[in-house]
Amino acid sequence: MLKIWQTKWTASNVARPVYEVYPSVNTNRISSDFFLNQIITTHGAFNAYQNRFFGKPILCVCENTAETVHHFIFECIKWSEERGKLPTNLTDFSVKQLLGNNKHRSILRDMMKKRFLLSIDQL
Ligand SMILES: [Zn+2]
Repeated sequence: MLKIWQTKWTASNVARPVYEVYPSVNTNRISSDFFLNQIITTHGAFNAYQNRFFGKPILCVCENTAETVHHFIFECIKWSEERGKLPTNLTDFSVKQLLGNNKHRSILRDMMKKRFLLSIDQL
């Protein structure tokens, strides 16, 4: 059953951001962090997701581009201060690598929590 699951997971066209972080199926791994799961799945508060599923505006609050997870973590000027806590050579890191480091994961979690709270304020 695990082999079938792995074959389907590898060949699938969906959930590729999750696949980048978790390429191997595993019955022992559970990620229950609400905020980090939004980064891993690219779902949640991000405007790109909100646009795709609910037709809401796609632009980031910086108004430069669509608000994707990549933009949020690596580019957005609105998150420069928080991003300053991450490595200066940030673009050398993948999301998976950042999540694999306890310090970086904690910073991303704090950023995502702030981002999520902003989305609640917009309701
Ligand atoms: Zn932005």
